Amino acid sequence: MPVDGSLSKFTETLEDGQPWPRPLCPKCQEGYIRFAEPKMNENTSSLAAHQHEAWDPEWIEGTFVSEGTCENPGCGVTAYATGTYEVRYSNHIDLGASDPYSAFYTVGQIYPPPLMMSIPAAAPESVREGIVRASRVLLTDPGLAATALRGTVERFLTTEGVRRQTADGGFRAVHLRLDEWRNADDSREQVGHLLSAVKWLGNAGTHEDADLTVLEVLEGATLLDEAFQRWFRGPDLDAKALAIIQAKGPAR
Ligand SMILES: [Zn+2]
Repeated sequence: MPVDGSLSKFTETLEDGQPWPRPLCPKCQEGYIRFAEPKMNENTSSLAAHQHEAWDPEWIEGTFVSEGTCENPGCGVTAYATGTYEVRYSNHIDLGASDPYSAFYTVGQIYPPPLMMSIPAAAPESVREGIVRASRVLLTDPGLAATALRGTVERFLTTEGVRRQTADGGFRAVHLRLDEWRNADDSREQVGHLLSAVKWLGNAGTHEDADLTVLEVLEGATLLDEAFQRWFRGPDLDAKALAIIQAKGPAR
């Protein structure tokens, strides 16, 4: 995985009986989570409405929980997807079907939360925590997730030795810290741009009237993932390539 594309599919309502997206397991990072048939609980007000003379199946609404299991037999972790459902005309109706209605699920949360992007092995612990934190709220509050991704950029800068505070104890603006990091070495230009874009998305997510979508946050995660891949893995791969070139074959 760079960024888990299956998570973007959770932004759509999922019709009953159709296959669910299978996110990468947050525990083992090897297997995929397969969700079982959701267990529905119709709201009390929705149940009461059945007595109304004009009642229609499209009035039905409630909450659900679906139990997911990691397909990796060595892991088998259980994850729960919860959210709301409503009933409306099926998108997959057979001609002549007696019941044209279907339940449509909107997933609000998955616990434990799948990671929205990969974590390079060489990434410091605080950067890892930042990615986990952002992933936790991706579906519930995309604006907060974007803010947490920006926080991950800040954590990265701190681990890179860029000061967080001014001489008098105030906090330094992220863009100043980013400029300092980028200007320290010509080779940081491109990674610096990627980090800067994530910062801007985070700023947009922080505003009181933030309306960032899950897809926009996942786009930010794609940029951050690319920045970290280049920064943490790039030098390793460059060294490996050089060793193979010098050995004119496998570097043993
Ligand atoms: Zn697993």
